[in-house]
Amino acid sequence: MTFLRRLISLAAGARSVGVSGMHELGITQSIIDIAGRNAAAQGATRVLSVTVEIGLLSGIVPDAVEFCYDACAAGTLLAGSRLIVRAIPGRGRCGDCGGECPLDPYTFACPACGALTLERLAGEELRVIELEIP
Ligand SMILES: [Zn+2]
Repeated sequence: MTFLRRLISLAAGARSVGVSGMHELGITQSIIDIAGRNAAAQGATRVLSVTVEIGLLSGIVPDAVEFCYDACAAGTLLAGSRLIVRAIPGRGRCGDCGGECPLDPYTFACPACGALTLERLAGEELRVIELEIP
């Protein structure tokens, strides 16, 4: 028996999910909405897995999204699919010395020079990056 699977990569399309003011239930529904629309556009009738990137500085709790997922997916193209969460660590760049450093939500100063000019490079993302359909 042969299983044919297709992976739909959405990363290039920047399907970013709006984060501000949303709780995990709304975020999960947005993920399912985006994934479902893209799967339907590919002619899929169901989805095997959905891969999302969640930045650790985004304020979104991956466990809470996973907890909501099955209930939100019920009755949609995504019913029974697996949610794969890739956690993206925070990274920042110092505007003074140019150094890059890991960032957590409580890092405000550059660990190398102490400047308070850290720019966030990564860690705030919430993106649906891949769908696996039969
Ligand atoms: Zn610095």
